[in-house]
Amino acid sequence: MTEVATSIREVKLFINGEYVESSDHQQFEVKNPATQEVIAKVHEASYADVDRACRAARQAFEEGPWRTMSVSERCAKVRRMAEIILERKEELARLEALDVGKPYQVAVEREIPRAAENLKFFADFMEKQGGEVYPMDDEFLNYTRYEPVGVAALITPWNLPFMLTTWKLGPCLATGNTAVIKPAEVTPLTVSLLGEIAKEAGIPDGVVNVVHGFGGGSAGEYMTTHPEVDLISFTGETTTGKTIMKSGADSLKKVSFELGGKAANIIFEDANLEKAIPVSIQAAFMNSGQVCLAGSRILVQRTILDEFLERFKAAAAELVVGDPQDPKTNMGPVVSEEHYEKVSSYLDIAKFENATLIYGGKRPELPENLSTGYYLEPTIYLQENPNARICQEEIFGPIVTIIPFDTEEEALAIANGTDYGLNGIIWTESLTRAHRISHHVRAGTIWVNCWFVRDLRAPFGGFKKSGVGREGGHHSLEFFTEAKNICIAL
Ligand code: NAD
Repeated sequence: MTEVATSIREVKLFINGEYVESSDHQQFEVKNPATQEVIAKVHEASYADVDRACRAARQAFEEGPWRTMSVSERCAKVRRMAEIILERKEELARLEALDVGKPYQVAVEREIPRAAENLKFFADFMEKQGGEVYPMDDEFLNYTRYEPVGVAALITPWNLPFMLTTWKLGPCLATGNTAVIKPAEVTPLTVSLLGEIAKEAGIPDGVVNVVHGFGGGSAGEYMTTHPEVDLISFTGETTTGKTIMKSGADSLKKVSFELGGKAANIIFEDANLEKAIPVSIQAAFMNSGQVCLAGSRILVQRTILDEFLERFKAAAAELVVGDPQDPKTNMGPVVSEEHYEKVSSYLDIAKFENATLIYGGKRPELPENLSTGYYLEPTIYLQENPNARICQEEIFGPIVTIIPFDTEEEALAIANGTDYGLNGIIWTESLTRAHRISHHVRAGTIWVNCWFVRDLRAPFGGFKKSGVGREGGHHSLEFFTEAKNICIAL
């Protein structure tokens, strides 16, 4: 382990441009999931603290200069945030690995740079936006403006804390809104730094506020019911999305929800297994399977089932499970004790449902210093019944289920036989089949012969219970703006 793991940090709230303590002196602890060591004491925002943060955001919005400064000046500051993030890349990646248990290498090479890119992308994209003009005969002229909505509540989960928060913060700021951010209570470390990064980038006080706490009866609920909050951008569980929608209903807040998933990864008999197997391993076990886009249901055509099982199992056995700070590690622990209990309960459920264990299914052998970590082996089941709980419920851990199928129709019925619809993955060398299946899988993103490839201009979001609305490119800008039409008599 590196020295980064040993000190206990004090994490404060960031309100109106400064770090402050919880007004009622409540704190909660955060643990390193690899060791159970306490790594931070976090100030929990009281209602009064959230109220202060929301009022500061309102004042910064109404009184400016953030909302009224030129787009290029505002976007230059957002781009500066991206530069500071890259300058602090190693530190942020160490903290993310420590807090979430994800491999440092993944954080430093992919997630933190992507967080910087999120901010830069939306700053650049915003600067290129135009409006619409509708001339009406010779008498009237209509033109549209896209104006910021106001105070945004940005509520994010623990699996990709920094990356997902910047994915919301980029369009929120570039369009001129102000923000109150709440990271997940189990992983607040990196997101807690966004306020100071914004300040260093020259963003006025009150524009970016960060509060800490839990959901119901705590900071999350205080934000989603607060009268000064105009819109809520939330990423997390489907059940939490339902609760937040109700909380925000009384004050008619605009909502954008990115929720859970249970993607089908369909492997047809003509798939190129040389490519499909390593990518399917990533899709199953990246971030210990704690990815909303995980290919957690692998549908395999029966004619290639034996070969696929053998090769997929061999590839899973190659994964190095261990210390997240070690560059050789491919897979760390799951995020918390509570989540470990949830994920491992599916080992019993799978057994009860007569799934066949192909690989894993227990704690891995690890060195003494990691013996208390929340580790589980990469685990593979074979299950003929697509309605079994392990095929239907979002496990959000390193457990993947292989479901055999015979025909294309059967594969589609299984793929669509779930409440979720975030994404789907298709492996085939047939162009016509690739298009045909892509059109019929009911999900917001379909990857053909690839996974996790993202163009930030493209729409991102879920069908069915995987979300409400879309993020990405102009979809994000639309959510964070109000369109105004101005009609002038000539
Ligand atoms: P979660 O819903 O438990 O928590 C997410 C955030 O919501 C946290 O900050 C939490 O404190 C807050 N929260 C909880 N209850 C709340 C309430 N009543 N009011 C206001 N805020 C509340 O989710 P999680 O366990 O942190 O994350 C895992 C989930 O996130 C999975 O379901 C995963 O699929 C989903 N996810 C989706 C995407 C996507 O883009 N669709 C991306 C990542 C994760």
